[in-house]
Amino acid sequence: MKTSTIVAATVGTLAVATVGYAIYFDQKRRNDPEFRRKLKKEKKRAMKQQKEEEKKKTTQTTQTVEEALASIKEDDFPASMEEREKFCMDQLSAGEALFTRGPEGYDMAAICFYKALKVYPAPAELVMVYQKTIPPEVFTLVMGMLSMDVHKKQEKYYTVFPPKEMNVKVDELPEGVTAEGQSVVRRGLIATKDFAAGETIYSETPIISSLEPSLEGKEFCHYCLKQIVEDESKVNCPTCTKVVFCSASCEKSATTEFHAVLCTKDSEDASTPERSLYDYTKETNSKYPEMIAKFLVRMVHEETLNSGEEYNLFDHIERLRFLEVRPSAAEEKEIELLKVALGSKIPGIEEFINEERYLTLKGKLLYNAFGVSTSLNADRSVEPSPEQYRSERGAPVVGAGFYRVTSYMSHSCEPNTKIAYQDHNNNLAVVATKAVKAGEELHVGFIDQKNGELSTEQRRQELFQHYRFKCMCPRCEAPEPVAVAAAVVAEAADVAEAAVEAAVEAAVEVEAEAKAEVEAVEEVTA
Ligand SMILES: [Zn+2]
Ligand SMILES: [Zn+2]
Ligand SMILES: [Zn+2]
Repeated sequence: MKTSTIVAATVGTLAVATVGYAIYFDQKRRNDPEFRRKLKKEKKRAMKQQKEEEKKKTTQTTQTVEEALASIKEDDFPASMEEREKFCMDQLSAGEALFTRGPEGYDMAAICFYKALKVYPAPAELVMVYQKTIPPEVFTLVMGMLSMDVHKKQEKYYTVFPPKEMNVKVDELPEGVTAEGQSVVRRGLIATKDFAAGETIYSETPIISSLEPSLEGKEFCHYCLKQIVEDESKVNCPTCTKVVFCSASCEKSATTEFHAVLCTKDSEDASTPERSLYDYTKETNSKYPEMIAKFLVRMVHEETLNSGEEYNLFDHIERLRFLEVRPSAAEEKEIELLKVALGSKIPGIEEFINEERYLTLKGKLLYNAFGVSTSLNADRSVEPSPEQYRSERGAPVVGAGFYRVTSYMSHSCEPNTKIAYQDHNNNLAVVATKAVKAGEELHVGFIDQKNGELSTEQRRQELFQHYRFKCMCPRCEAPEPVAVAAAVVAEAADVAEAAVEAAVEAAVEVEAEAKAEVEAVEEVTA
């Protein structure tokens, strides 16, 4: 095949793909839970044979691929769209010239094709073109580089995140054994230096946050959740009456990140799809559908910025635990509302928001979101939404926030930190409540302990009901003084405990399975 044919096959896409949506959705597909599930089925059958054969091949190619990857640096790639287009074409031509020389040119050709792939806006399409046009040996090398790239990026994640200045790291910690004797690990947040009681360990702004629907549009900022005390400082949205902001800068940030897409625009038309989503939120008193919509819009917005950030929002939340959400009529409706509200503005989003992905996102919010308390009057009563969030409920909660780092913090009924909203907005600070040594795990309370009135059993039940784990914190594990007269109660508690234990076992199994699936994906990409 002549150079001109490959170039011709790819140039059309390059010309139209001015934004990186295509790259974005291709990357996401790799992390698709549906894909993982299918993979698992296929795995057992195909993997065994393949592994043996591939092992031989891989050891030969790995070295070549590793050397090639080591020789490529990020700044080898141009930044502007025009330069990238030219770069891509140059690499394609060079690659083709090299492989026509025969096997001695294959390694260098593969590097060229790999580089072209790195800047091409729709890599999956280019891979398909490669498959049809370049020699299989070269194709295998290119694919090897690509999967090693993905694998390296995955492995590197916890070495660059959280950023050093946050004074914490994410680590794997032992979490008992399964019935089959398999050891289970979980991820937790560890302090990297000493802290005295009362010291702030770090603070972070959320990926996304939302007000309780009953507070929207009144005296709380739609973007930072801050209470607006002075009416003069209230900033309205230019195109709707449904939300207010505490400042011009919050209005600007919200508009750029998500509100331009989600604004109900009721000053023009009362029956927009954005309005339907808003009405649903109000009717059901739920904020997670809107948070998911904001998340998706923000993610696409971030993708188009080309900020050079190595990990995008999806990379950040992908590793977080989530609660299994069973699909119901409510979720079906929510998915439909989101599709209509976003579909006309974000090409490809309709196929992206499938049931599985939506439920996963919702499950991530249910497990990881924190209740945000910014209210200045402590006795304010807020109509709480039915959705759960982590909160010790010291102060009234006005909304929920989804945080990159704090999501990794595990629960304890005797935590060594507490959450504070020191700026009276959604900027979350983690404050040590006792002296913390470097290397110690940080804990926070997920539930309201009603001033310590809840018994171990009650705490365990509430935690299990909401977060699906049996609390093994020192407080729960310490023997509790049992009154002699309460023998019957103790027996009932035993029965309850047995039920909780059985359920925990089932949950651990689910988790172990999920882990195996992740490993399977890694094996394939490795
Ligand atoms: Zn604000
Ligand atoms: Zn608006
Ligand atoms: Zn506990």
